[in-house]
Amino acid sequence: MDFYPILLELIIKTSTELPEDITAALKSHLATEEGGSSATSVLETLLENIRLAHERQLPLCQDTGTIHFFVTAPDDFPRRQFQTDACRAVVEATRRGLLRQNCVESVTGHNTGNNLGYVNPTFHWEEADDNAIPKVTVLLKGGGSENVGIQYSLPDETLHAGRDLDGVKKCLLDAVYRAQGKGCAPGILGVCIGGDRAGGAEEAKRQLLRRIGDRSIDTTLATLEQEVLTKANALGIGPMGLGGKTTLLDVFIGARTRHPASFFVTVCYNCWCMRRQTLEIRNCEGSVS
Ligand code: SF4
Repeated sequence: MDFYPILLELIIKTSTELPEDITAALKSHLATEEGGSSATSVLETLLENIRLAHERQLPLCQDTGTIHFFVTAPDDFPRRQFQTDACRAVVEATRRGLLRQNCVESVTGHNTGNNLGYVNPTFHWEEADDNAIPKVTVLLKGGGSENVGIQYSLPDETLHAGRDLDGVKKCLLDAVYRAQGKGCAPGILGVCIGGDRAGGAEEAKRQLLRRIGDRSIDTTLATLEQEVLTKANALGIGPMGLGGKTTLLDVFIGARTRHPASFFVTVCYNCWCMRRQTLEIRNCEGSVS
């Protein structure tokens, strides 16, 4: 089995074409901003950027991000072959300039030059039922937006945030307020309530795979998502922090069980440039959705 051609195609599509739900959200928010405002100008520029990147098959942003493969596949899926071919595809996409050389060894400062290194790219595996069609989503996660992610440990005296959903809400609005448009707003929040520190970060990032407008099947979390979204967009921070009604495009909240002594709230912030594309793998032919 050779996964290389379909994975190279998937990476290129992810780097150059924004998912239609993100583009649609940017357009619908543009319609709510005042004509001639900074917010309108920024959103129009983003939409033009998206159009040009697609038309010319160029990266949507100079920071092509860190590379994540989220794979759901049955137990007998050839994982090692997949990872080898994915790494080959990453090297080729880097060589073609569709992925920036973003992999730096932390101790030496050496850039590996081909986007390969320890746990880079990152593979997130999830087991599926025996007859399920394997599915892979590539997420290119911008570094600037990763920098404004944050993890809270409740209770938090500064925020007057206790170990309850009201406390969670205070954390999420604080995260948006602190960012002040940095990380290239309008943003999208992936959130995890609970878990340990590492598990919370993993779950928060995984929440970013949901489509704009998707609400949690847990009605309590769905209500919280909508409330935080509405309140964040009333803060007036706006696109790139220049003012306006469009600070967030959506909020996605998941929850994990936790140790009785711990209550973490983890926020993974993504910029407007939400590059994720999904492929179903059928006999090494793909259909990108
Ligand atoms: S945060 Fe996103 S839009 Fe901003 S520079 Fe990084 S990847 Fe690009």
